[in-house]
Amino acid sequence: MKAVTWQGAHEMQVVEVPDPRIEEPTDVIIKVTSSGLCGSDLHLYETLAPFMESGDIVGHEPMGIVQEVGSAVTTLRPGDRVVVPFNVSCGSCWMCERQLYSQCETTQTHEHGTGASFFGYSKLYGHVPGGQAEYLRVPFGDFLPVKVPDGPTDDRFLFLSDVLPTAWQGLKYAAVPAGGTLLVLGAGPIGDMAARMAVHAGHRVISVDRVPERLARVQKFGAEPVNLDDLGKDSSVADVVRETTGGRGADAVIDAVGMEAHGSPAAAGVQRLAGLLPDAVAEPLMKKAGVDRLAALYTAFDAVRRGGTVSISGVYGGAMDPLPMFQLFDKQIQIRMGQANVRAWTDELLGILEHDDPWGVESFATHHLPLAEAPGAYERFQKKEDGVVKVVFQP
Ligand SMILES: [Zn+2]
Ligand SMILES: [Zn+2]
Repeated sequence: MKAVTWQGAHEMQVVEVPDPRIEEPTDVIIKVTSSGLCGSDLHLYETLAPFMESGDIVGHEPMGIVQEVGSAVTTLRPGDRVVVPFNVSCGSCWMCERQLYSQCETTQTHEHGTGASFFGYSKLYGHVPGGQAEYLRVPFGDFLPVKVPDGPTDDRFLFLSDVLPTAWQGLKYAAVPAGGTLLVLGAGPIGDMAARMAVHAGHRVISVDRVPERLARVQKFGAEPVNLDDLGKDSSVADVVRETTGGRGADAVIDAVGMEAHGSPAAAGVQRLAGLLPDAVAEPLMKKAGVDRLAALYTAFDAVRRGGTVSISGVYGGAMDPLPMFQLFDKQIQIRMGQANVRAWTDELLGILEHDDPWGVESFATHHLPLAEAPGAYERFQKKEDGVVKVVFQP
């Protein structure tokens, strides 16, 4: 089959690889019909290079048609339409029983001390072949794949794999009070979807980014856009937010930026450096150096009101990052974060999407491309060119 593979920092290639096979009686094989390109795939592209091996199949936002089921699988049959959550979670361990699926104890990677495995997400997360491919092996067939109805387009359900549950959990963690104001930092796919969900839930939403077409998308759904590049020299996002919230700040902030933000040449330099070093040197450097920049997070702490909540959806990866503890303690800021426990939210979200499209998922993707165009798509997505916000590959 054909698959998108990592071949080195900044080098993705579509190559021919062996088809996946049933390895455990609980496995299913799906024929992938749509597969999302995610901001966190760009971390593999560059930052997480030390944890990649040449030839690794990437992608963690797939859906498709069940092709084959293992002998122990009872709830799925060939022909069923399924979406695959990005966490590889077993559904029956101590963590899964508590719906902490991103911490599944059956698939944790003990070598690196990390949580549940992800599809297509480096040695840090289990080294599991990913879903930007023609076929995918999915473990825990009776629990993990989300069966979806026939009828609507793939895009109606595809984002149950990551974007929808990640945004949904971010919004729940933000705990916006009734009539409250939510500040969303970043209008990439997660920030965009979180803003749409928050507006739909009746909250006032202020969205910040510096890419005009991304801000235009959330504005269409009712968020108030703030372009960082339009701020005066002496003004900050927090100033703008305080001006419109009685001087207090936002009741809650979602940081949907993480370490992919613009404008930190030093951090970018360290990331690139880590990518070029021999693996043995670079792996400890990546985990310890705290290469991510914290500008978005500092903005969140500044812009949130006293006693408010900061919900972190963007990915941070440093181990020694300085946090302003006095500000956090003095302002009584609540912080929640973590990878989405995808399967905890999919039934609730699917229940809504089966009948309706309140968040505009069917027009959410900006580009639908064949797998062969993946290398160029990664590049344009990273450079935020050509209006690329969300790419869906159709193998
Ligand atoms: Zn993703
Ligand atoms: Zn588990």
